[in-house]
Amino acid sequence: MNLAQFPRYPLTFGPSPITHLNRLTDHLGGNVEIYAKREDCNSGLAFGGNKTRKLEYLIPQAIEEGCDTLVSIGGIQSNQTRQVAAVAAHLGMRCVLVQENWVSYDDSIYDRVGNIELSRIMGAELRLDDAGFDIGIRPSWQNALEEVERQGGKPFPIPAGCSEHPRGGLGFVGFAEEVRQQERELGFEFDYVVVCSVTGSTQAGMVVGFAADGRADRVIGIDASAKPDQTREQITRIARDTASLVELDRSIADDDVVLDTRYGGPEYGVPNEGTLEAIRLCGRLEGVLTDPVYEGKSMHGLIDKIRHGEFPDGARVLYAHLGGAPALSAYAALFKNG
Ligand SMILES: *Cc1c(COP(=O)(O)O)cnc(C)c1O
Repeated sequence: MNLAQFPRYPLTFGPSPITHLNRLTDHLGGNVEIYAKREDCNSGLAFGGNKTRKLEYLIPQAIEEGCDTLVSIGGIQSNQTRQVAAVAAHLGMRCVLVQENWVSYDDSIYDRVGNIELSRIMGAELRLDDAGFDIGIRPSWQNALEEVERQGGKPFPIPAGCSEHPRGGLGFVGFAEEVRQQERELGFEFDYVVVCSVTGSTQAGMVVGFAADGRADRVIGIDASAKPDQTREQITRIARDTASLVELDRSIADDDVVLDTRYGGPEYGVPNEGTLEAIRLCGRLEGVLTDPVYEGKSMHGLIDKIRHGEFPDGARVLYAHLGGAPALSAYAALFKNG
C-alpha cells in the first residue's frame, strides 16, 4: 500500500487524540473497553470533523489546478459544507455551497443556527435548494459550478461528503495508519472500530487502511442514512476504487464491508428515541457531545451492541467520533428538558 505518493495539505492539528471513555465503559458493565478517536476536535478550522481529514487530500489538487473557488453540496445542516467553508476561508478562496432540503425536520431556526450559521459567518455564498435527500451527484450542484465559471472563476467541485471524489477515501486510509502508530504507543491493539456511515468514504477509507493488516471486517459501520443498501453499495465501490488507487496488495471482498442497519431510522437527519438516549448518556457520563444526525446514531449502535453482548468480553472498541456537534443547536427543541 502506498498512501505517501499522494500530497496532503495539513488542515488538522496532527494525529487526533484517543481518549478512554471509562465512565461509559463502567456504566455498560465494564466487559468492553470503550475508547474514542476524536475527529470531532481534530482541527482549529471551525471545529473540524471527518471532512477536514478528507479535504487534506483534495486541496492539493485544487491548488495544483489553480482553482479559486471551492464548491460543495449538502443538507441545510451539513457538516461537510461548514468544513469546506472554513477551509476556503483558511486558504483565501471563494466558497459556494448548495444547501438542499435533505431532512424532514421542521423548526423555524433550522436554516439559521448551527452549521449553516457558521458557514455564513465564514463568508460562504449559499444557494438554498428544495431538492430532497440523495447522496449522489445533483443538477443543482452542476448549476453552481457553471455559475462560478460564467463569473470568471475556477471552481473546484467537492461532492457530498467528499465521497465521489476519486481521492475522497484517502484521508481515512491515513486514519488507519495513524491508529496503528497510536496502538504501538499504547501497547495494545483495538479489536473493533465503530464508525457512522452515510456517503461512505469514511468507512471505505478505513476498510482499505485496516485491510492492510487484515482487519477490514473489524470496522463496524453504523448506517445513519436509513437507505442502507445505497450506503453499502457506495462504501464497497469507494473502498475498491481507493484500494486500487493506493495499490493495496489484496482485493476488497463484499464481506469486508460490515454495515449495521438497525440504528439509522426513522430517516436521515431525524433521530429515534435510542439516538436521543445515547446523546444524553454520552453527554452526562463523559462530557462528550454527539448529534442527532450522525454520531448519536453510531453512539446508539455502540451502546446497544454492548448491552446485547455483541462484542466479546475484554474487547477494546474504538469509537470514531467524526464530529457533528455544531448541528445540535438546530435541534434545540428536542432538548428543551435536557
Ligand atoms: C459526514 C459525516 C458522517 C458520515 O461520513 P460519510 O463519509 O459521509 O459516510 C458521520 N458523522 C459526521 C459528523 C459527519 O459529518
